Amino acid sequence: MSRSLFTSRHGGFSSNEFQSLNLASHVGDEAIVVEANRELLARELGIKRSDLFFMRQVHGSKVAEIDESSSHLQEPEADALFTKRSGIALAVLTADCIPLLLSSPSAIAAVHIGRKGLVAGVVEATLERFESYGIVPSEISASLGASICGNCYQVSLEIYRRVVNQIGKCATDEEKRCLDLEAGVISILKERGIVWSSTGQCSKHSPGYFSYRRDAKTGRQAGVIIR
Ligand SMILES: [Zn+2]
Repeated sequence: MSRSLFTSRHGGFSSNEFQSLNLASHVGDEAIVVEANRELLARELGIKRSDLFFMRQVHGSKVAEIDESSSHLQEPEADALFTKRSGIALAVLTADCIPLLLSSPSAIAAVHIGRKGLVAGVVEATLERFESYGIVPSEISASLGASICGNCYQVSLEIYRRVVNQIGKCATDEEKRCLDLEAGVISILKERGIVWSSTGQCSKHSPGYFSYRRDAKTGRQAGVIIR
C-alpha cells in the first residue's frame, strides 16, 4: 500500500528566505543544509536517505523510471518519477507548480506540473507509463498538493488564450487572465475516470508554503509518495 504526503515550509534547518524545510538544491540554499532537510524527510518516512529519489525538473514531459539500478545520487532530468519498486519514495519539488502523486497497487509516480509541463503533456505521459505496464486508470488514484490558484496565477492574454484553447478547464475569465491549472489537471484525470483528491490550498495565499510568485527567491516544498 502506498502513502502520500505533502510538506510545508516548516520543520527544517534552512534559514532566511529558505526557512525552514527547503528541499531544493538549485535555489541558492546551502547544499549541506538541504541535504540535512532531505535526511530529515527520509527519517520521517521511515526509510534510508538512499531510498528517497528526487529529479531535476525542467518543465517538460519526460518520465523517468526508478528501478533496481537507480541511485539517489543521480537525479534524472525529468518532470515525473515512476517506479514499481517497493520501499522507496519519489519526491516532486514545488513552489506554486502542482505536485501530483499517483498511486496504484503495483506502481507509483510523482509529477511536477507547471503551465509548460501541463501543455507539454506531462500528465498524459505519466499515465501512459502506467498503461504500458497494464495498469488501467480505474486502479490509479491521484492526490494534488498546494499550488497557485485560479485567482492568483495571472499571465499575459496571449498565454491565457493559448492554454485555455488547449485545456478548456484552465479558464477563469479573460479580463483577469488568471489560469486555473489545477482545474485543468483535474479535468484530465476525470476524463479517464481517475479518483482524485486535493488539499485545495493556494501556495501563494498560504504563508505556510513556499511561493515563487509571492517571494521569487524562495525554497521548495515536496510532494512525496512511498510504496
Ligand atoms: Zn491564490
